[in-house]
Amino acid sequence: MRESDVEKVRRASAHPDRPGEVCRADAGVWKVAVDVHRCEGKGDCVVVCPYQVFEVGPIDEGVYASLPMLTRLKLWVHGKKTAHLPRADACKACGLCVVACPEGAVSLSAP
Ligand code: SF4
Ligand code: SF4
Repeated sequence: MRESDVEKVRRASAHPDRPGEVCRADAGVWKVAVDVHRCEGKGDCVVVCPYQVFEVGPIDEGVYASLPMLTRLKLWVHGKKTAHLPRADACKACGLCVVACPEGAVSLSAP
């Protein structure tokens, strides 16, 4: 892990607003979600998640087409990438992604 990534994890771990159960939840019980209107696809969530829940990749074209023009423009500027959740069922509610996301795009819901 790069030094800047270690610092991101350290900052998120110490964040006073970190939600969740600090990795003590059963996997997949809490629900993690990404707001595509906010996500800029830069991947801080990928860096901090201990369970590889996230991947950054191209946004689905159908979803992209359904978004408001300004949101589409923002996504286009960022290469039309967004965060996906291929392993959402591995989430143990550590909460790091929520406080690490600079766009406030990640939410974590209790069961
Ligand atoms: S969800 Fe947040 S941290 Fe993850 S790629 Fe999108 S903007 Fe970046
Ligand atoms: S709360 Fe976020 S960072 Fe933590 S395990 Fe779940 S998806 Fe990964």
